[in-house]
Amino acid sequence: MLPPLFPLLRRAGTAVLDLLYPPHCAICRAATPSGEHLCAACRAQAPALKGTLCAVCSTPFSGQISGPFVCSSCLERHFAFTCAVSRYRSAGPVRELVHRLKYQRAVHLRGVLAGWLAEALGDPRLQDPPPDRLVPVPLHPARQRERGFNQARLLAETLSRRSGIPLSDCLRRVRFTPSQTRLDRKERMENLRDAFQLRQNCPVRNLHLLLIDDVLTTGSTVDACARVLREAGAASVRVATVARA
Ligand SMILES: [Zn+2]
Ligand SMILES: [Zn+2]
Repeated sequence: MLPPLFPLLRRAGTAVLDLLYPPHCAICRAATPSGEHLCAACRAQAPALKGTLCAVCSTPFSGQISGPFVCSSCLERHFAFTCAVSRYRSAGPVRELVHRLKYQRAVHLRGVLAGWLAEALGDPRLQDPPPDRLVPVPLHPARQRERGFNQARLLAETLSRRSGIPLSDCLRRVRFTPSQTRLDRKERMENLRDAFQLRQNCPVRNLHLLLIDDVLTTGSTVDACARVLREAGAASVRVATVARA
């Protein structure tokens, strides 16, 4: 048990820090309330996905449509995950904060980003049934050493604390795959074959799992992860990301 003095000291510490480093918006540097890293005006610029979304990959359909719809690319691909959900497009402040977290180690932004993930968690597709475990998409150990941390793991931990859904770091990346950004879909799939494995002593059988990553691009990475988890007996695998490309 921590002595009752501790919360008091922590509040005092935060107040001193706020005096030394006044809290400000990570985008426009406007003053913000203590503990907040994004002002209301910049938060309002986060580009929400609008219109009717593909039931599987959440890509928006621009035309008129009524009722559930599955996009042509999902109809032909047969993903191993049931659906991939995000509330935002990777653009504007969302894209900027994801980049700062990943490439500038701005780990203090994890709360804002996990907040956007929590919005995805409220989607009906992720509530029926609610997930049993959050599973971060792993980085290869060499990439993780280079970056200093795994952003997906950091976001999953933060979301786990907020939602009460336990974290299971049950996947590992066993092949170092070159950066995926310049590859087309077929090349990505070949690149990812056998890249992931289940860790030992990580039971996933009959569990409803939710894979967590920062951004969904083609879906090839989470598809490769989902395949491993389904083969190990997971009841279902769904995906939540902060944003989709
Ligand atoms: Zn701002
Ligand atoms: Zn789709």
